[in-house]
Amino acid sequence: LSKKVSDSRALLAQSFNRFLSTLPGRKLEDKVALITGAASGIGKATARTFINHGAKVIIADIQPHLGQETAKELGQNATFITCDVTKESDISSAVDFAISEHNQLDIMYTNAGIACRTPPSIVDLDLTSFDKVMDINVRGVMAGMKHAARVMVPRGSGSILCTASVTGVMGGMAQHTYSVSKAAVIGIVKSVASEMCRYGIRVNCISPFAIPTPFCLGELSLVYPHFDARQLVQLVHSFGVLEGTNCEPRDIANAALYLASDDAKYVSGHNLVVDGGFTSFKSFEL
Ligand code: NAD
Repeated sequence: LSKKVSDSRALLAQSFNRFLSTLPGRKLEDKVALITGAASGIGKATARTFINHGAKVIIADIQPHLGQETAKELGQNATFITCDVTKESDISSAVDFAISEHNQLDIMYTNAGIACRTPPSIVDLDLTSFDKVMDINVRGVMAGMKHAARVMVPRGSGSILCTASVTGVMGGMAQHTYSVSKAAVIGIVKSVASEMCRYGIRVNCISPFAIPTPFCLGELSLVYPHFDARQLVQLVHSFGVLEGTNCEPRDIANAALYLASDDAKYVSGHNLVVDGGFTSFKSFEL
């Protein structure tokens, strides 16, 4: 029964995507995007948004089962490829797959990342997890940029995006290792953007704050183990400072759509903070 339900869902999604493709005003018509960490959360929401705007999306993720489910749910313009961003050969193959399937790669979104809670004090810091976080959050991003540039430079166009974090801008309690990794992402973006301008390739990142995804909820459940899923989502929403609205993965997807599309054709080397005003609010408080 569950297979039947999932097949009908996939059919519905396909019909809906076909219907959408007849609508005007789509921002990524005929573009090809590769998104790492797209089996879930922000990456998945972005894949959905890009597809609704006419793109073909390659979902590159370390979780094959979830990735295939996501691709099925998103319909015929989504393809899954297994990719561990800590392996340069996986990233290289994912980029080559985009070229062999679609002859082009217009958008590379290096979004995959992991969290890492550290003790609040640097004095107690256990550095064993440091290399693992850097491997995924920093090295994985750099490898993604490298292989995207390999195919974008000869074409003289492209848009590269990354997911940083407000933690990379302002730090965070018990976030020492993660902050380093996300500050590094912001640094790489500015550095690679300055190189890529001469080829007409734009490089930008987005810094979200507390979006209810498995990543964020998983982290919070370590601090609040007695909270159920609904309470954890409510907790995330309670961090918001912008009255009348709650953050969702698609808020980041919309920022990614802007940066990936021609709407942002003159924007490069930028870190777009999407936090409902959180960072400004905090600085006012100080
Ligand atoms: P998520 O857990 O929902 O999704 C992350 C995805 O990355 C998963 O599908 C996971 O399988 C994949 N992944 C993990 N390691 C991988 C690897 N080695 N290779 C390939 N894929 C891998 O989390 P999310 O919140 O959507 O996170 C996406 C990005 O957003 C991350 O870079 C994260 O640091 C960043 N971010 C999230 C928040 C938030 O509050 N959710 C805030 C700031 C930044």
